[in-house]
Amino acid sequence: MEKIPFMDLAAQYQSLESEINAAIRRVIDSRAFIHGREVEEFSREFLRVHGGGLGIGCANGTTAITVALRALGIGPGDEVLVPNHTFIATAEAVVEAGARPVLVEINENWRQMDLVDAKARLGPRTKALIAVHLYGLPEPMEEIMEFAGAHGLKVIEDCAQAQLARWNGKPVGTFGSIATFSFYPGKNLGAFGDAGFIMTGDAQLFDFIRCYVDHGRQDKYVHEFFGINARMDGMQAAVLGVKLRFLETWTERRRELARAYDELLSRRGFRVLKPHDRARAVYHLYVVEVANREEVAAEFKREGIGYGIHYPLPLNAQPAFAALGYARGGFPVSEKFAERIVSLPFFPEMTLTQLQTVADVLTRVGRP
Ligand SMILES: *Cc1c(COP(=O)(O)O)cnc(C)c1O
Repeated sequence: MEKIPFMDLAAQYQSLESEINAAIRRVIDSRAFIHGREVEEFSREFLRVHGGGLGIGCANGTTAITVALRALGIGPGDEVLVPNHTFIATAEAVVEAGARPVLVEINENWRQMDLVDAKARLGPRTKALIAVHLYGLPEPMEEIMEFAGAHGLKVIEDCAQAQLARWNGKPVGTFGSIATFSFYPGKNLGAFGDAGFIMTGDAQLFDFIRCYVDHGRQDKYVHEFFGINARMDGMQAAVLGVKLRFLETWTERRRELARAYDELLSRRGFRVLKPHDRARAVYHLYVVEVANREEVAAEFKREGIGYGIHYPLPLNAQPAFAALGYARGGFPVSEKFAERIVSLPFFPEMTLTQLQTVADVLTRVGRP
C-alpha cells in the first residue's frame, strides 16, 4: 500500500522550487543575511496578511515569548499562568525570562485553559497569562481578556500554531498585549530553519522589542540597553515571503481536510476537536482521541501511515518540571487527554483518498 506521511514538506517545496531558489539567490547576491530588507519586507507583509499593527521577525517562537515577557517587565519573582497542555516552549520561555510558570488545567470542552482553575491558582505574584491557540484552534479571547482584566494580568498570545486564525472575526494575536509566532519548518507557515515573529499594537512595546532582539541597538553602534541577539535571518525571511503568498490557500485546504476528517470520524463515534462557532480554526494539527492508542499506532506503522502525539506528556509530568513540585494526578483532564490523543497525517497537499484511507484504518482498529 502507498505510504501516507504525517506531513510532506518535500511536496510543498517542489511546488515552489523555482521561486524559493530565486529568493535565496537574491539574499546571497545582496548579502542581506541578517535583518535588513528581506526581514523588513516580510514583516510588513506578514502583518498585512495575518492582520496586526506592529511587529518584527525574530529568531524563533520560543525566544519570541521570552522577549514578550521581558518587554512587559516580567521576570524574577513573578508568576505566569500557562496551560498544562501545550508544547514545552510556552513554559520554558517563562523560565528563561526568570519568572515561574504556574500550570493551569485545561477545560473539558475546549481543551484549552480552564479559567475556573486559573482563578484558583492566582496569587500576589501572578503578573501574566499566556493564551495558547493550540492546534490552530483559537482560545475564547473575550473571556480571557475579561478574566485578565479583572485580575490585573497582562496577556501574551502564543500563536505559534495559529497563523491566520481568527476569533470572532478578529485575528488571533490582536487581543493581548503581545503575540508571538513560530515559523519552525513544520508550522503552518514554515521557514528553512528557525524563525519567529513578535507582534503588538503598542508602539512603546514595539520600540523596546525591536531594539531588544538586536543587542539593544538604536543605531549601528549605539546600544540603549542590554538586549540579546534574536534576529531573523534574511534567508528565512526570503523563503517565508514566497510561502506567505500561498498561506491563505493552504489554510483553506487545511480547513477543508479537517471537515472531511470530522465528518468521517465523528460519524463513527470518535471525539474530534471542535472549534467554537465564533472561531476560524486553522488546524496546525488534526488531533483525535482514542482509547487504545498503542494498538492504533502499531496498525499505522504496519500500514505505512505516519502519525504524531502532541504531546504525550502534559507539562506537570515533564521531568524538567520536577523542581516546580507538581504531583502526577493533579491535572486529571490534561493527563487523560495526553494518554488518548493521536495526530493524524495532515498537510495541504494531502488527497481526500489518502485521508479516507487513514480514517478507514483508524476506525478498523481504534476504539473511541
Ligand atoms: C512551535 C511552538 C513554539 C516554539 O516555537 P519555536 O520556533 O520552535 O521556538 C511555542 N509554542 C507553541 C505552542 C509551539 O507549537
